[in-house]
Amino acid sequence: MCSPRIVRTAHAAADNPRFSRRAWFGAAGALAAVSAMGSAQAAPNLSGGVVDLTHTLSPELPVWPGNPPFISIPVAWHESGGFGQNALAFWEHTGTHVDAPLHRVREAASVDRIPAADLVAPLVVIDIASKASSDPDAALTVSDIETWESHHGRIPDRAFVALHSGWEHRLASPGAFLNLDSGGRMHTPGFATEAAEFLVSDRSIVGAGVDTLSLDPGTSRDFGAHTAFLGAGRYGVEMLANLAQVPAYGATVVIGAPKHAGGTGGPCRVLALT
Ligand SMILES: [Zn+2]
Repeated sequence: MCSPRIVRTAHAAADNPRFSRRAWFGAAGALAAVSAMGSAQAAPNLSGGVVDLTHTLSPELPVWPGNPPFISIPVAWHESGGFGQNALAFWEHTGTHVDAPLHRVREAASVDRIPAADLVAPLVVIDIASKASSDPDAALTVSDIETWESHHGRIPDRAFVALHSGWEHRLASPGAFLNLDSGGRMHTPGFATEAAEFLVSDRSIVGAGVDTLSLDPGTSRDFGAHTAFLGAGRYGVEMLANLAQVPAYGATVVIGAPKHAGGTGGPCRVLALT
């Protein structure tokens, strides 16, 4: 969809605080025109579409087994003081949320210390929905990454890699999203440890995301993908929505991570610019 060169250049522009959003799109558009003339790769789609990759936070959303649900309590009313306001209560890893490196590694970066420049990135979507439909324990492997790269080219530096398992449709069926067995163990897709290690050592991603509740397959007990990503100082995003609505490559993702001091993560708004 978009050449790595264009994405990298647009990203570099976005990193520059003197670049306005308008200037950034202008730079990318100009590069697209040049690319269309001289590059074998397709020009990016800069039609300006925005896809919301965020689930609406509500008490009905499934949470990690044992965690309390999201709570919203009205504490001010228009009728009384002129303004409405709710008090919220939730564990950090609720809904569509960020995993900061501190979530897995003591003394690592808390969510407020994730560099802002890392929260805007070329979006890579690797689809394993086909095998996940028949195997809930399916893992994204190095082979899946290589297959993606055979179609779209090498994953660019500073990309955000999202695993699309198609798990979202299970939210309509109570219990199907967590998919717990009789022993209380989740059966949900995630990154194989080797694939996570590959993405941080052989590629240079800024973060990784999933449409399930865990970066690791639900049956994991060593949480190797969490350790690989967060241990390398990268962040994760769990419970992404609407990944079927974005291209495998060519969109830019913007992750509105929370910024509370010392946080291990938290609910976020994730947008894909297509
Ligand atoms: Zn989490």
